[in-house]
Amino acid sequence: ATSPSPDASTAPVLPGWTHVYSGKVRDLYIPAEAADVASADRLLMVASDRISAYDWVLDTEIPDKGRVLTGLSLWWFDQLSEVIGNHVISTDVPEAVRGRGLIVRNLTMIPVEAVARGYLTGSGLADYRATGSVCGVQLPAGLTEADRLEPAIFTPATKAALGDHDENVSFDEVTEIVGAETAAAVRDLTLDIYSRAEAIARERGIVLADTKFEFGTLPDGTIVLADEVLTPDSSRFWDAAGYAPGQAQESFDKQFVRDWLTTESGWDRSSDTPPPALPAEVVERTRARYIEAFEILTGETFPA
Ligand code: ATP
Ligand code: MG
Repeated sequence: ATSPSPDASTAPVLPGWTHVYSGKVRDLYIPAEAADVASADRLLMVASDRISAYDWVLDTEIPDKGRVLTGLSLWWFDQLSEVIGNHVISTDVPEAVRGRGLIVRNLTMIPVEAVARGYLTGSGLADYRATGSVCGVQLPAGLTEADRLEPAIFTPATKAALGDHDENVSFDEVTEIVGAETAAAVRDLTLDIYSRAEAIARERGIVLADTKFEFGTLPDGTIVLADEVLTPDSSRFWDAAGYAPGQAQESFDKQFVRDWLTTESGWDRSSDTPPPALPAEVVERTRARYIEAFEILTGETFPA
């Protein structure tokens, strides 16, 4: 099934900024005085409250989700600042998107979804069952769902068009796309950042099963972190207390949405029909989960 692109008209009109792109979750703007994206030195990146499940952007929004994603990304950028720079310039954004918008450097993006996996699940598990390896990385025999991988592995993907699945690729394919030096740098950074983040999250009771980074380069060639980092949308978070390999783990954030869509809503996942709107109770429980993830990780109260 393919999801229709988010209606660009839902991106708020913001003084001083021109809307140029909407992804599944984020709306991107360039300064009003910039002629086009290529010549803009900075971008305004706004995380909306949109939520996707099973590759559909749902009709129902989760209040405060955009602020959770942006707040968590900022917290992680800060935790990681000794390891790697990032694209953030400022949080001083138009009133209407305060807390969910960031002014960032307009980077030359490295066109690779830099995924690290420290646990075997999802498309990684599917690859492993079919081939014994994930993205060309050979793994020991006999592993099961949710088993820990030590060391963690780099399992890159190429970004799909809106509505499609990202496609897993081998390290050799990454080398062909970005060159050997950049491919090695992206792999090493991805694994280094993942292992630090995994340890930080584990201390706080969250298993960071896997995560996806996006990197870009500054004009001088320095590689920095872009996009969002280590959020429930870019990562799999599991509750460490309930972690039990050999079975599917509950997704920390979208569990209620997925459960409701597949069991109670009557929606046929294999059809081309968009999923129905979420009931208020599912929205509220999901909102609470996003906020809980923010509070557990940062140790801070989510600002009202
Ligand atoms: P999804 O994440 O849902 O698969 P998406 O990544 O296409 O979809 P969003 O995350 O909603 O869309 O939008 C963010 C977009 O901005 C992405 O295309 C991302 O690569 C890009 N981006 C993020 N940071 C920067 C940056 N500093 N400079 C340029 N582009 C960036
Ligand atoms: Mg994205």
